[in-house]
Amino acid sequence: MKPTHIEHIGIAVANLQEAIPFYEKVLGMTCYAIEEVKDQKVKTAFFQVGQTKIELLESTDPEGPIGKFVEKTGGGMHHLAFAVDDVQEAINDAANAGCQLIDKAPRNGAEGLKIAFLHPKSTCRVLTELCGKQ
Ligand code: ZN
Repeated sequence: MKPTHIEHIGIAVANLQEAIPFYEKVLGMTCYAIEEVKDQKVKTAFFQVGQTKIELLESTDPEGPIGKFVEKTGGGMHHLAFAVDDVQEAINDAANAGCQLIDKAPRNGAEGLKIAFLHPKSTCRVLTELCGKQ
């Protein structure tokens, strides 16, 4: 696996409309997209900073992964996503290196990208996402 850059940082929030003003008014960034990802039971808001995006995540279902995370922790940094050329190939590389997977095959993420998560037990406790066009 050879990630090209940090694709995005995922931040779980209780409410997008309450979180967006910090990024726009304090950090001076512009929210360029709001998108619901049904697969993950979230609504996302995106900001671009250099090559990297900030992905704010609001749960659309208290039983979803972000809903549970926000209830447990109050929200905050949730995951780190690395850009890779081929997500399935990256999954295979991680598995071959002994890494515990959450996803054995790519799923549909926001912005039409393929995504897969690696288990925090194998990633120094940081939920790690692999993200790519295929
Ligand atoms: Zn993400």
